[in-house]
Amino acid sequence: MTTWCPSRVAGLAQLQRFLPHAGRDYRKHRNFDNGPADRSNVSLLSPYIRHRLVHEQEVISATLQEHSLVAAEKFIDEVFWRTYWQGWLEHRPQVWHRYLEDVRCLSERLTAHNPLTRRYSAATTGTTGIGPFDTWTRELIQTGYLHNHARMWYASIWIFTLELPWQLGADFFLRHLLDGDPASNTLSWRWVAGLHTRGKTYLATPDNITHYAQRRFSEPQALHGIESLAESAPPCREPATDNIQPISWPPDITIGGRVGLLVTLEDLSLDLPFTPTAVAGLPSRAMPDLPVADTVMQFRRKALEDAMQRAASAWPDAAVSTVDPDQLIAWARQHRLDTIVTGYTPQGFVQQDVSRLRRAAVDAGLDWQTHLHRYDRLVWPHTQKGFHHLRKRIPELVAELTQLPLQYSA
Ligand SMILES: Cc1cc2nc3c(=O)[nH]c(=O)nc-3n(C[C@H](O)[C@H](O)[C@H](O)COP(=O)(O)OP(=O)(O)OC[C@H]3O[C@@H](n4cnc5c(N)ncnc54)[C@H](O)[C@@H]3O)c2cc1C
Repeated sequence: MTTWCPSRVAGLAQLQRFLPHAGRDYRKHRNFDNGPADRSNVSLLSPYIRHRLVHEQEVISATLQEHSLVAAEKFIDEVFWRTYWQGWLEHRPQVWHRYLEDVRCLSERLTAHNPLTRRYSAATTGTTGIGPFDTWTRELIQTGYLHNHARMWYASIWIFTLELPWQLGADFFLRHLLDGDPASNTLSWRWVAGLHTRGKTYLATPDNITHYAQRRFSEPQALHGIESLAESAPPCREPATDNIQPISWPPDITIGGRVGLLVTLEDLSLDLPFTPTAVAGLPSRAMPDLPVADTVMQFRRKALEDAMQRAASAWPDAAVSTVDPDQLIAWARQHRLDTIVTGYTPQGFVQQDVSRLRRAAVDAGLDWQTHLHRYDRLVWPHTQKGFHHLRKRIPELVAELTQLPLQYSA
């Protein structure tokens, strides 16, 4: 069974293992969910890319060293999907805030005994009686991963067969996925529900599941209950939320004096154009209301430790430690910092913490600067509309990206 070691070295090794398959093999076989014992048809890089233990630009560059863009088109498209979702949500923070509010209200309803609670409980304990769905629930809880096609089927069955709110499904995923990402997760669930491309939903059908998951569900009893799947998928509705807000692009960082680097789980790449005096890692905090899976918390804790170890060997003169958010100003004073630099934090829980810390630091007289990767600066402007707008620019973006230096100092 696949396991993910939360380190950059492990992520790069996984990239190297997968690269020979990133061309024709991926295009041909990627849609098959063969079960946790055989994931050789997909890259399994998402937990690494999610925290930027491995950066999208590295994945794209490494792929293009082994394959032409035409041969690896499908794989590169998928990597751009992640950047697309992030950029799209950056232009619409209200979609994330409304989702959070919906989850909060719906979670309150789960405390009482009612049909919603009963259906939610059956779905999240793998006891719905729909064989494949229950198998995916157990796999998600045990491994922290589901194949992309399984995520689509799962979300579709959750919404249209079990008639559960998509927001609670997205929340359940976010608590269990090692790659749980506010943008990719929330917006993929919205896509299945017919809220992304308005009115266009995704319907999981028995034929499609039987074909693409034939190897893992080869025993007839594994497919029990599949005949009861919804036969139509009427789009979910909500008041319009998609006013585009311009991103406030941070200026390039200008460094003078003593600089502290604040490392968050949004960006463990340590790809920086300066040498810090001190480095602080900000631990992950739990999400509101329901618990986050231990596997996820452990992955995040170890991934941050890995970044701290890399920082210590990249900058031997820097003081490196993890820091409690309430101690950030004390940490800055201890190291007599003039400036704190942190990686850009996209919409999500980490951003809420970082915004609070930024206000406290500025109030304490510190300079605060934000480092945005040139990759994001280059691609996000093309993520305001549908994916096909970004897709048609991929050849020119890739040409520009291959000119951008990859620093990856640690
Ligand atoms: C309902 C639902 C929820 C999802 N939630 C998440 C999530 O929280 N975090 C997450 O990273 N992905 C999410 N995805 C996207 C996708 O399922 C995973 O990225 C993919 O399955 C990860 O496996 P892999 O690394 O082997 O992917 P590969 O197929 O090998 O793809 C390579 C990389 O491209 C990116 N990618 C691939 N497909 C997508 C996609 N459809 N959308 C965005 N990025 C993609 C990932 O970074 C992935 O590692 C979700 C999809 C659905 C349908």
